[in-house]
Amino acid sequence: MIDIPSPESTAQAFEDRYGRRPDGVWSAPGRVNLIGEHTDYNDGLVFPFAIERRTWAAMGRREDRTLTVHSGAMPEPAQASLDELGPERFDGWSAYVFGVVWAMEQRGVDLSGRTGFDIMLASDVPLGAGLSSSAAIECAVAIALNDEWELGLTRRELIYICQLAENGAVGAPTGNMDQTASLMGEAGHGVLIDVRAETADPVALHFADEGLELLVIDTRVHHEHATGGYGARRKSCEDGAAAMGVASLRDLTEEDLPRAVEVLDDETFRRVKHVVTENARVARTAEVVANEGPRAIGDLLVASHASMRDDFEISVPELDLAVETALANGAVGSRMTGGGFGGAAIALIDADRAAEVEAAIEAAFADAGFTAPIIFVVNPSAGAHRDL
Ligand code: ADP
Ligand code: MG
Repeated sequence: MIDIPSPESTAQAFEDRYGRRPDGVWSAPGRVNLIGEHTDYNDGLVFPFAIERRTWAAMGRREDRTLTVHSGAMPEPAQASLDELGPERFDGWSAYVFGVVWAMEQRGVDLSGRTGFDIMLASDVPLGAGLSSSAAIECAVAIALNDEWELGLTRRELIYICQLAENGAVGAPTGNMDQTASLMGEAGHGVLIDVRAETADPVALHFADEGLELLVIDTRVHHEHATGGYGARRKSCEDGAAAMGVASLRDLTEEDLPRAVEVLDDETFRRVKHVVTENARVARTAEVVANEGPRAIGDLLVASHASMRDDFEISVPELDLAVETALANGAVGSRMTGGGFGGAAIALIDADRAAEVEAAIEAAFADAGFTAPIIFVVNPSAGAHRDL
């Protein structure tokens, strides 16, 4: 177990485990989604940023076709073979690693004649907290393999490979926001993603320039994307688009909502309304942050939370309490972030009030009898890269 991982400590852990130096160390960040929830798989707009919490992958080539992975986060290592790759063969967390190799093959990488590898993973992205430890692990492995096998794949292709690993090998029906943020993030910037147009544009956020910080409140309510509500929401979106006669909800605007309320049942309408209004809020947030600065985006964040709580119904009492308490204590804006059903909320706050806001949220959670949250600041940070 590595307490505070770094490229050097990950290389050292590799050496301790495998008895040789790794060929290199690569890392990819988790992300926080500033705004745009459940819009990615609807061909829509999302606006996340990469954070300083990362997953490091130390990798060394082997001479045979075996793949081995150890993770500081897991008690047992896992193994696979380049000759026997397939989602049905992957078990548990190792699907995020071996799934990337499988996805590369699915997308045309020829694995014949290649040799396997050993990997040591270390991470300070909390698992299952809505900060996308899953994209961090996938993207770290993907850029490492791209270099090790000299594949020359573009970042855009790596996004699709990592998404396919998550969808096809892990079985989580997610869009590609997380992988895009992890692979395309830049320090100090958000990544404005248009899924349909396949664009990912950096937008300066200027949080620090304005004396602001972004607080993450991890409620520690665990979510599991491979099961449960995420897939049900996705299906509602597909049903809603079909009933409205469009290829995806991206084809609808707020002007279509009066017709949608006639055509759709109440629940499907509210799901559709969330996605349509959320796309508009993302576009507006990018405009406002560029033209008026980050202090002006608070209302958009708050409206996004209300939409997820009331229309998309993916919030939980812990997330609502975190948001309400942050706002009551002077946050510029606050919302749940990530897929929902647990995970984290974010609050954009004056940096000099951070301690006060944290204390208020901790007290509110204690009063409500909730598990103590984990609260920390995140900064817009660099995307995936080679470290050593
Ligand atoms: P999130 O992406 O919000 O953290 P997910 O449920 O999508 O949550 O992904 C979390 C899962 O990803 C973990 O349960 C584990 O299976 C896998 N995972 C992520 N990071 C690591 C890691 N460093 N080592 C091993 N498994 C990991
Ligand atoms: Mg994830």
